[in-house]
Amino acid sequence: MSDQAPEVVTYETRGPVAVVTLNRPRYRNAQNSKVTYALDAAVVKAVNDDEIKVIVLAGAGDHFCAGHDIGTPERDIDESFERKAVIWYDHVGKQGVDSRFARESEVYLGMCRRWREIPKPMIAMVQGACVAGGLMLAWACDFIVAADDAFFADPVVRMGIPGVEYFAHPWVMNPRAAKEFLYTADRFTADRARELGMVNHVVPRADLEQTVMDMAQRISAMPRLGLTLTKKAINQAEDLMGLRAGMDSVFGLHHAAHAHNAEVNVDSLAGLDARGMAAAAKQSAGAV
Ligand code: ZN
Repeated sequence: MSDQAPEVVTYETRGPVAVVTLNRPRYRNAQNSKVTYALDAAVVKAVNDDEIKVIVLAGAGDHFCAGHDIGTPERDIDESFERKAVIWYDHVGKQGVDSRFARESEVYLGMCRRWREIPKPMIAMVQGACVAGGLMLAWACDFIVAADDAFFADPVVRMGIPGVEYFAHPWVMNPRAAKEFLYTADRFTADRARELGMVNHVVPRADLEQTVMDMAQRISAMPRLGLTLTKKAINQAEDLMGLRAGMDSVFGLHHAAHAHNAEVNVDSLAGLDARGMAAAAKQSAGAV
């Protein structure tokens, strides 16, 4: 365990494998900006360490990640951080779209793209909730191995928003499944996610870590440059299938939705915090 790693994200190495772990289990690893920057620092550390061949992204506790922090006492959207992902001005002290677009370009879309494009394989090891902003972290990895208790959902259409900022939905599953996923906000089980191609393997919860570590070790036996070029090849192919340009165009729709909410509702999230989202989910489950 590194003594330099911020406590909201831990970093450890096991031979050629770095394990980066989200560490806010009390809040189901909800991401505030502090987490985002700690995660970025951990990923950079693993990339810069020549001994590390593969990175595993994990979540401490029962859940991988319940999403962006929209309601814990440590929510930090009004704080300034040294920007890493995009060259933009600070969102703090700006208003409306000027603030939101700057912030989300950096901490959400920019960061996830940055992690997707690192030159080393990164595997998402997912148990429990992988919801909304949690999807973005798992999708930025090269592939996902899930425990049988994992579930996936993007319920932000309840806020009137067309999906999370890193809009990979139609690429990580097929477009019709992506519509169902978003229109219903339903939780897709690990098995369903595997059927749709979003998840590579589903294993019993007790076997998750060992399965991922075994795969990471096998991948580590490959030549580093070979892995890097292969990763880039697949990512480029995915971008030629429209992922990057698609995400850019949807990011505009995402911000139109935030702006609409701010204009006609109480705030850019339509007045829904984590508790409100949970209540809305319960209500719609009751309506079926
Ligand atoms: Zn947003």
